[in-house]
Amino acid sequence: MYAANVTSLRRDWIDEARTIPTETVLHERGILKTLTGRGSKFVGPCPRCGTGVDRFAVHLGKGNGGAFYCRVCDLGGKDAISLVMFLDHCKFYRAVEILTGRPPPGRKAESNEERIAREHRASALRIQMLQRQRERQQREAEEQQRQHDKAYWLWARREPISGTIAEKYLREVRGITCSLPSTLAFLPPRKPAHHPALIACFAIPKEHPNGTLDQPRAAQAVQLTLLRSDGNGKADVPNPKISVGSHDGLPIVLAAATDLLSIAICEGIEDALSVHEAAGIGAWAAGGAHFMPALAAAVPERIESVTVFADDNDTGRTNAHKLAVALRERSVEVLVVGG
Ligand SMILES: [Zn+2]
Repeated sequence: MYAANVTSLRRDWIDEARTIPTETVLHERGILKTLTGRGSKFVGPCPRCGTGVDRFAVHLGKGNGGAFYCRVCDLGGKDAISLVMFLDHCKFYRAVEILTGRPPPGRKAESNEERIAREHRASALRIQMLQRQRERQQREAEEQQRQHDKAYWLWARREPISGTIAEKYLREVRGITCSLPSTLAFLPPRKPAHHPALIACFAIPKEHPNGTLDQPRAAQAVQLTLLRSDGNGKADVPNPKISVGSHDGLPIVLAAATDLLSIAICEGIEDALSVHEAAGIGAWAAGGAHFMPALAAAVPERIESVTVFADDNDTGRTNAHKLAVALRERSVEVLVVGG
């Protein structure tokens, strides 16, 4: 009888914690005010792993008064109990005790010493996580610097494209007839085993009224299109296009915007050159579908319309659409073609 009674009391005790909305805990612990968002969706630094800008997401319309998720901790939940477990590094029963303010029926309350020990454990874990995170960020920063240095070095080794197999590839294989911009060059192989390449620089070069572009100087990211040694196509390797350096938010500018104040944005260099040739408008390449949305912020104020060319696959369509949405938010006229 006694055991059955305790079971039912515990069920009530747990149910009591379950009635508390996630939002209440977020509010009481001062987390809600660190988040930004609209409607019921918010993002901000993670209260568990300690840093970040938007890694911690909350949807107040989901779960019991809010669902949450940190993409770095890779943990989340849909109620106040899971939120307390997440924040305090504690087990289910302890979270219910914290929420109800009462120990499990049939058990004595957490003693002061136990509480202090638990809080110490949680704060030690938090410090450890912060330390690991700082080390990871340091490693990432070093790797990014190495990639930038490599991109700088590769771009510094370029040769003018005119008369090279990179020009041959664009003219004869891709049928490009327009003049080639200073953002494209030829990269000769450094060793006999290396492939020659068409090298393109991610940058926003100065544009002149006659439509020419300044040479980008200190490149921080480049794209290589590895070529066959006779220039009759891309090199026969699994990935003939290689990006070096981080270029999110930077385009490969292939043609300056004309008086039409209109540019086209494509995934690849070759398509962008073809569009420029056919339509006489400015042209950018993103260097891959995933890099298209971030280009919205790089489009200069004076540009009035952008034609986004979507590649005919799911990734191509999704990212072209994201770019279009971001541009429309900036009141730029957008046309999405293809896909
Ligand atoms: Zn986190």
